Order: sequence, then C-alpha cells, then structure tokens
Amino acid sequence: TLPAIGVDIGGTKVLGGLVTPDGRILQTARRATPGASVSQTEDAIAGVVADLLAGNEPVVGVGVGAAGWFDRTGDTVLFSPHLAWRNATLRKDLAARLQLPLWVGNDADAAAWAEYRYGAARGADLALMITLGTGIGGGMVLDGRLRRGSHGVAGEWGHMRVVPDGRLCACGNRGCWEQYASGTALGQTAREVATSSPAAAAQLLERVDGDATRLTGEDVAAAAADGDALALELVTEVGTWLGQGIADLAAALDPEVVVIGGGVSKLGELVLAPARERLERALPGRGFRPGPRIVAAELGPHAGLVGAADLVRQDA
Ligand code: BGC
Ligand code: ZN
Repeated sequence: TLPAIGVDIGGTKVLGGLVTPDGRILQTARRATPGASVSQTEDAIAGVVADLLAGNEPVVGVGVGAAGWFDRTGDTVLFSPHLAWRNATLRKDLAARLQLPLWVGNDADAAAWAEYRYGAARGADLALMITLGTGIGGGMVLDGRLRRGSHGVAGEWGHMRVVPDGRLCACGNRGCWEQYASGTALGQTAREVATSSPAAAAQLLERVDGDATRLTGEDVAAAAADGDALALELVTEVGTWLGQGIADLAAALDPEVVVIGGGVSKLGELVLAPARERLERALPGRGFRPGPRIVAAELGPHAGLVGAADLVRQDA
C-alpha cells in the first residue's frame, strides 16, 4: 500500500510524482531537463526524487521513464534523439545514487502502461500509445503486457519516414513522422509560416514580440485555444498528420485503441477530430474492416510518471 515514485524525463522537463497503488498522484515535483549533459540529467532526477521523499513515508521504489531507446534489459540507454544519452548506463548510475528499487525504461512505454492499467486503454487486447511532445513517443501493450520488441526498441513510430527527403530529424534521418506531428513540429511550421507570411501570423507574432524565430508549439497551442484562425489551421494540420500515421500503424498492427498523450494532447478534440477524419479516409481497406478508436490519454501529461511508478511495483 506504500506509494511509489514515478519520474518522467522528457525533452524539456523532468516531472516526478508520488503515486499510490491505485494510480493517484499525491504530490509532484519538477525540474528543467538539462538536455546536453548526462550527469546533470541524473542530478535533476535525483533532485526530483529527493523532493518527493522529503517529509514523506517510505516508498516502494522509483520508476523512471525517459525519452530514450533502452536495450532489452533496461540497463543501457542506447540512444536518445533529444537528449545526451549514447550507450549510457542510466540504471547503474541511478541505482548507486538512489539506493531504492528501480525500474527504468522508455517514457512512452511507461505512459502506455499507465493508460492500460488506469486509463483509456483498460481492457484493450492491443493498445498503442502515442505521445506528442518534443517528439513522438510510442508504446504498445498486447495481451496485458508491455511489448518492447526483440531489442527493446519497439514503438519508435515517431521515426517512421512519412515524407521522402523531408525535414531533418534529431535521429539523423529526414522526413520522420515526429517532424510533422509533435509539439516541435507545430512550432517549426509556425516559424516557417510567420516568416513567409507575417501578416497572416500577426496574432501569433504578438506573442513573441514580432520575433518569428521564438515561436514554439506552446505559443501555437495557446493561440489555437484562443481561437486564432492560423493557429487552428496549424493544429488541424498536426491532427491530420497524426491520423495518417495512425492509418499506417493500423495497417501494420491492427490495434483496438490508440491513446494520444503528451503536451500537444491538451488540445483535445482540436487535434483528435482531424486525426479521426484522416484515419477514416486513409485506413487501408476502409469500409470493409474495423479500425482503431483514437482517444485522449485519461491520465493526460501524467501518464508517463504514473506508469513508471506502477512498473517499479510490478518489478519489486
Ligand atoms: C524518441 C522517443 C521518445 C519521444 C519523446 C522520440 O524522439 O525517439 O524515444 O519517447 O521522442 O517525446
Ligand atoms: Zn527521426
């Protein structure tokens, strides 16, 4: 019945929480992600854990979901497009610092697990998770188990190529899905449009004192929530790319439900409605076969930390 600590390390922030066995969050703590430095990222994780331990009862352990590609054992972060890990021994380093039972793994895998255990994917026999944040994260729960592939790196659908010779991706390739359907993509497209058509982007530019290079996905999201026409168009475009990618995933995997989480999912139906519309038009064999449901993450931006906390429980 003791709580566990879950920590989610994304491209921009380290978010931790004290989580009960039934998935309730008692307390949270956060730090900025020092993206360029492995040891400073570990400091940030240890700092968040220390904040959550201070003055509280003991915990079962610490689960850490990180935006990186882990090997099958979870010992090594092989690679991370957005952070500094390259063949990094994250588990060993954290075990030495924290001296607590530990689960470490991919952030979107942890989110998938949380949605399966407590959220929108409960009871699904095949559920896919898509987190829209700095990049696109992915996770898969099949027959009640998190599936990580033969080498631990399944679910990296953010790096499927959707545009030949398209935008350069942090993974080293071009045209990856996450370059068209993520928070970063929203910012990138906004900067391009605001530079080429500043008049159309007047409302967006007001948010950054006229400096198009400073526009981020969050600015676009805020403007869309305020009803700005251009921002709404850009959000719809992201939703449409999302639906196209889901049609391709459905062709490969035939999931029952696809759960959308991450920061961009806060936009809710503004993103999900165009995604469903595109899926309906792009699903191979449409009209003759069932397709997946597209739903918002019930645990929202907390899915990753809640899942990581439960995964250390499963291990412990
Ligand atoms: C990485 C994933 C990660 C996601 C997080 C992607 O670029 O490949 O491992 O889950 O970003 O946003
Ligand atoms: Zn990529």
